[in-house]
Formats: sequence, C-alpha cells, structure tokens
Amino acid sequence: MSQSSLNAGLDRIPPVTQDQSPPERVPGGVDVIADLCGRIATGVFYGMDDRTGRILHMASLMAPREVQGSVPALKAWLCGELSERRRLGVARYGMALQAGNGRDPEADLRQELFDAAAYSHQAELERQAIHYADPTYCPHCDKHGCIVREDGTHAGCGRPVRP
Ligand SMILES: [Zn+2]
Repeated sequence: MSQSSLNAGLDRIPPVTQDQSPPERVPGGVDVIADLCGRIATGVFYGMDDRTGRILHMASLMAPREVQGSVPALKAWLCGELSERRRLGVARYGMALQAGNGRDPEADLRQELFDAAAYSHQAELERQAIHYADPTYCPHCDKHGCIVREDGTHAGCGRPVRP
C-alpha cells in the first residue's frame, strides 16, 4: 500500500461533524490534553471506575510490550501519544482542544467510541482471515497445526474445524 493511499483515509475524516460547529478559541481556556497529561504524570489519575480511566486503560493495551510492565514507562507513553493527538489538533484547527470550545464532547466521544469499536472489529476480522488461511486452524481451540479427523472434526475438541 502506498503512502498516499494510507493518507487518503485521514483526508476523508471531516474536520467537524455535520451537526456541530467548528471549535472556538477560548481565551485563557483549559488545554484539555495538557491537563490530562499533567494528571497522568502526577498520579492524580483516573481510576477504572471512571470513564476516562477506562478509556485510558483500553488505550494502554495498544502500548508496546516493553512499556506494558512499567507504570512510569506506560505513563510516559500515554502522554507521548496524547501529545501527538494534540499536535495534530493544532495542525488541523490552529489550536489545541480546549474546554468550553462550543462543541458537545459527549457527541464527539460517542462517535469516536463507535469508530474505535469498528476498527477493533476490523482488526479481529483480519486476524481471523490469517487463521482461516491455514486449513489446520481450529477456531474452537484457537490453535494451528491441529489434527483434523477424516470426518472434518478436530481431534482436540471434536467440533468441526470449519463451523
Ligand atoms: Zn479444536
């Protein structure tokens, strides 16, 4: 896939939603990502019973393996990723995300979460496609190289290898 076709996906993302006006600059307004990074860095952190904390937990699952085992490394990684989103926001809108910018953050969040669910499912489908290319793959046991009986069932679980 060429770099231009990779970028084409980004170009298709509209800068604002149909039913929402563009973000407004808020003089002296709170820089949302800077504030969030500050909370992550100082340990004034959202817990798992908090929505933002749960979303950050999901985001943490995307961290590289070497980062996963270290809380300081994970915090630094989270702030780095958030700072990159901030940089893109400044490039796109001329300013960082600000509280009170006139948009409805609940609506923006809802759309982004459903996009996230769709991308996650896409990744799952693409992983399955790799599995299913192997005739010895058993989806019930999630194993490759399984023994397949002549009747098409898997010796490990007795279920059909292709459901
Ligand atoms: Zn099986």
